[in-house]
Amino acid sequence: MKTVTTIAEMRAACLAARQGGKRLGFVPTMGALHEGHLSLVRAARERSDAVAASVFVNPAQFGPNEDFAKYPRDLERDKKLLASEGVEFLLTPSVDEMYPKGAATIVYVEGLSEKLCGRSRPGHFRGVTTIVAKLFNIVAPDAAFFGQKDAAQVAIIRKMVRDLNFPVEIVACPTVREPDGLAMSSRNAYLNAAERKQALVLSRALREVEKKFAAGERGAGELMSAAKTVLAREPSVTLDYLEIVNPETLDPVPNEDARGALVAVAAFVGGTRLIDNVVLGGKRKG
Ligand code: AMP
Repeated sequence: MKTVTTIAEMRAACLAARQGGKRLGFVPTMGALHEGHLSLVRAARERSDAVAASVFVNPAQFGPNEDFAKYPRDLERDKKLLASEGVEFLLTPSVDEMYPKGAATIVYVEGLSEKLCGRSRPGHFRGVTTIVAKLFNIVAPDAAFFGQKDAAQVAIIRKMVRDLNFPVEIVACPTVREPDGLAMSSRNAYLNAAERKQALVLSRALREVEKKFAAGERGAGELMSAAKTVLAREPSVTLDYLEIVNPETLDPVPNEDARGALVAVAAFVGGTRLIDNVVLGGKRKG
């Protein structure tokens, strides 16, 4: 695996691969890698001839009172994992390399960026789209792989790619979970033993919604109350949002038809903010 810290080296390595006729897959991450990240690399390998990845904790997507400084970092471990998964090119830039003094340009997807996590994390998605656009310009991948776990991020990046004509295929990969159902996240490392148990209420609430949906319930309101009943059984967990929305527009679905809807939840477990979601089956009308 060729590991580089500068934009110029990454650009040259990726360009050479593409000029050699290789279809290039790209997996951007913030490191502290887990099986969720590695599943993206595996998906990228299956659909590409060479895989590029990045590990960069992007300050622009953290709010002033968020966890940028304490976000888990273990670059040596990340490098070993990515190398063992067959990543060919890894970019691990410094903050100054990505945001040199005077950087003033942002990429902002209007509307969508204010929904779901965007409502409670102002500026978050603007930080995400800015860094992803920069990385796409550096790597110029044929396809980029993102986790469905961050469903709003997928919707926003798809919109950015469409609106700004990036020649990149966006592939969303299923959420990887711990055996007990907890969605894998680098932030799970913050949880103590008691919180780790409490955190299960998120996936439990989503499973309840899926169960009700499978039993024939289509009403968004009914499905929402089913989830809320489960969440209320864990009062130590503070709900940020629970929404049943169209996965592309992120707007609430009509109450009578939750088919194909994204059920998204965010909650604080102790000081840790966790998110999870499921997409309900069935085709939406119209
Ligand atoms: P992050 O390092 O948190 O920025 O995540 C990098 C990529 O990994 C994003 O596309 C995430 O959606 C994806 N990801 C994070 N957790 C999971 C998971 N549990 N399952 C699948 N993909 C994930």
